[in-house]
Amino acid sequence: MQIQREQIESIVREVLQQLTARMPQSPAASAEGDWGVFERLEDAVSAADRAFRRLDTVALRERVVEAIRRAARANARRLAEMAVDETGMGRIEDKVKKILLVADRTPGPEILFPSAMSGDAGLTLVENAPWGVIASVTPSTNPAATVINNGISMLSGGNAVVFAPHPGAKRVSQEAIRILNKAIHEETGLVHLMTCVREPSIEIAQKLFTYPGIHLLVVTGGEAVVEAARKTTNKRLIAAGAGNPPVVVDETADLKRAARSIYEGASFDNNIVCCDEKEIIAVEAIADALKRELAACGAVEISREQAEAVARATLLDYPGPKARPNPRWVGRDAAELAKAAGFSVPDACRLLFVDVGRDVDHVYARVEQMMPLVPLLRAADFEQALEWALLLERDRRHTAALHSRDIDHMDTMAKRVNTSLFVKNGPCIAGLGAGGEGWTSMTISTPTGEGVTNARTFVRLRRCTLVGSFRIV
Ligand code: NAD
Repeated sequence: MQIQREQIESIVREVLQQLTARMPQSPAASAEGDWGVFERLEDAVSAADRAFRRLDTVALRERVVEAIRRAARANARRLAEMAVDETGMGRIEDKVKKILLVADRTPGPEILFPSAMSGDAGLTLVENAPWGVIASVTPSTNPAATVINNGISMLSGGNAVVFAPHPGAKRVSQEAIRILNKAIHEETGLVHLMTCVREPSIEIAQKLFTYPGIHLLVVTGGEAVVEAARKTTNKRLIAAGAGNPPVVVDETADLKRAARSIYEGASFDNNIVCCDEKEIIAVEAIADALKRELAACGAVEISREQAEAVARATLLDYPGPKARPNPRWVGRDAAELAKAAGFSVPDACRLLFVDVGRDVDHVYARVEQMMPLVPLLRAADFEQALEWALLLERDRRHTAALHSRDIDHMDTMAKRVNTSLFVKNGPCIAGLGAGGEGWTSMTISTPTGEGVTNARTFVRLRRCTLVGSFRIV
């Protein structure tokens, strides 16, 4: 067989390209990025695109993910401290737990199964293909944990990711990106699988909504960013939006367990996790007993007058229909909220609650607060409690919880709340694998419906059909 000169040249070119792609690169050699942090958006996107093209085997993805897990565990405390220091939100110990949770319980490439259909007409294979470069807009409330969690999920799917961190959490988000890129480079020689720009802003995030070379847009944040992305993006969108999770406690509940769960859940990271319990709806018959159990756990009941003083000190446009939390006070310790309102509670206090009776329109019930102060409502019975839960969840399809031993109540609420997470007889974070079964995520896709995201969320399904052959039976 005669091989033409052009064919030889083409083969040599191909071999050289493959060799270059596999050679370890240092950040300095490939671009000016400081371990993934670039001055210009175009460099961040093109570096991520080059990195994506080199992530071309499953074995490499596995090593990349193991490197991320190791680095996240080793740096959990430093990142937690940085997050609290920079944003002023949350609790260091809880942030350490959150980072370890995502490092340990975010699934890797092993959850991506190809599927096959085999029959008289031949064989069809359905594979999980990467999208390419994903843009991920991340929140200030879980900055490092979201970078680690999205990093594991997205890279497991064979993608690279350009992050648009919240400007108020840029230092810790960028440090997380640098740490993970260094660890990946050490393990595999790859760089820039995660990138971002040095000066993040809302404008940069919005540019990514339509940026050429981005193939999938993922936003994790409040209503404004989800709406903005929905209106403008020309990409496939996965949106993880705001919640306002109600927790119903009925007359059959184990009240000690309910109180302990609510105390742990609603106080976790000072209530800034989107799925943390935001309002308690107790049926009248057990409301007083539940309050006693909450107090026994360490929660402090405050009067309506004190709650009013906290609202005046910590909300914007209050009173009024547009009242919302002042970011300055989101995720602060209970003792700080009390001090701002002119009273004091012990520094160690993790949770305040206020009995608002039947006032379902109370600002603490109606508006997502993300502060360790939750209202307790008194419903006449389970039916009314469920009605209020639906009202306050506002069809965000995010999270709801129930404490009950009545199987009909469990069944009825599960069907009617229609939320991405529905947790029974445990804290809401159990629905994220923290004390409950299942994997974890910091991106719970609510309006677009993917639920608790993982690597399967970030792949394209591609089908390959061979007609009439390749069966073994
Ligand atoms: P945020 O909405 O202020 O910011 C989130 C991200 O969106 C940031 O990167 C910010 O820069 C960007 N952003 C905000 N407005 C934008 C706009 N108009 N255009 C483009 N980008 C914009 O939220 P936050 O305070 O950082 O986080 C708390 C909120 O996020 C809460 O409402 C919480 O419930 C929600 N959240 C949801 C999930 C989930 O998985 N569903 C996870 C974490 C947080």
